[in-house]
Amino acid sequence: MATPTILPPSKLPNVGTTIFTTMSALANEYSAVNLSQGFPDFMCSEKLINLVSKAMHDGKNQYAPMAGDPLLRQRIAHKVESLYRQSIDPDTELTITAGGTQAIFTAIGAFVHPGDEVIIIEPAYDCYKPAIELFGGHTVPYALHAPDYTIDWAVLESLITPATRMLITNNPHNPTGRVFSRHDLTRLRDIVIRHNLLLISDEVYEHLTYDGLTHESVLRYPELYARTLVIFSFGKTYHNTGWKTGYCIAPPGLTTEFRKVHQFNVFSANTPIQAAYSAFMADPNEYLGLPAFFQAKRDLLLHSMQGSAFSPLICQGSYFQLFDYSSLSDLPDTEFCQWLVQHHQVAAIPLSPFYTVPPDDKIIRLCFAKKDETITNAAKRLRDILIM
Ligand code: GLN
Repeated sequence: MATPTILPPSKLPNVGTTIFTTMSALANEYSAVNLSQGFPDFMCSEKLINLVSKAMHDGKNQYAPMAGDPLLRQRIAHKVESLYRQSIDPDTELTITAGGTQAIFTAIGAFVHPGDEVIIIEPAYDCYKPAIELFGGHTVPYALHAPDYTIDWAVLESLITPATRMLITNNPHNPTGRVFSRHDLTRLRDIVIRHNLLLISDEVYEHLTYDGLTHESVLRYPELYARTLVIFSFGKTYHNTGWKTGYCIAPPGLTTEFRKVHQFNVFSANTPIQAAYSAFMADPNEYLGLPAFFQAKRDLLLHSMQGSAFSPLICQGSYFQLFDYSSLSDLPDTEFCQWLVQHHQVAAIPLSPFYTVPPDDKIIRLCFAKKDETITNAAKRLRDILIM
């Protein structure tokens, strides 16, 4: 007889497989056009691929320094200075990570103590809450509402208690595509300082703002940066999310604590990929062209969806465009997305997994970081769905 498996109590009893993995698997199963998970379906630069290969052939195959490739850190510091006018020391304020999610997990692990409260703004990317709870913290959600998803900073401030340790923001925002204004940043700064909080600022879509909007990085606000860990992703910038490389910028004291966890979590990030990015980053045009590149994709999606039963919400940034499907169906959003993939072969993401208490909105998220033909093909299928 087989030995019975011992199953200790789950540390995350309410967590299943992420909606992104689930929807991409369904997209494959039904041979659907996949506008669900946020990743480009087009190739990244050939030059960058050759640089990775060159780094490997040059023997850059062993552990990178724990904090990351020194040249890459210098180049990032230079970029931050030129984009955001914030001078950072690449030796003491910058750590290369195995992607944005690992950086966020490490930042939460380094600072959240059992019993701490952490405020997140919902709809929220799904990696924040499980990480907070694994380290014994309590998530305090502040829910935004469709169609504007505007933050009322006074309401957010009213959620702060003596147990509040941290606030997590995401700008540009996944899934709503909203972008913070200067007003948002000054309110955020005042609240964080007044209540002596730490901030994790998830800025993985830093280059993806549209219609002339500026990315208001926390790095532009020195008093706020003094209390913040800012998270970035190379995958979102260079079209290679599967390379899983990102970084965390934080003042020296915060970086010291961040690295205490980082060194035992991953030790160091991938060596040849860091070497390749450090060479590739020398040319700022690679990222300065991104707003126009992705805005054209957003506009193609909006244009191709005209005449459909889906109505678009406002998208100012990120990879994502929301659509309201209430004139088409009364199904809850997750069921609607399952129906869509099964019957019309288009995979989308429902918004309810981004909420602790989901509202009864009829809204889905489509990712437009896709080839033009993928976008028009999906839109054609969606336009063909008629109001029943
Ligand atoms: N950030 C991506 C999204 O929102 C998903 C990343 C993932 O699947 N972990 O679609």
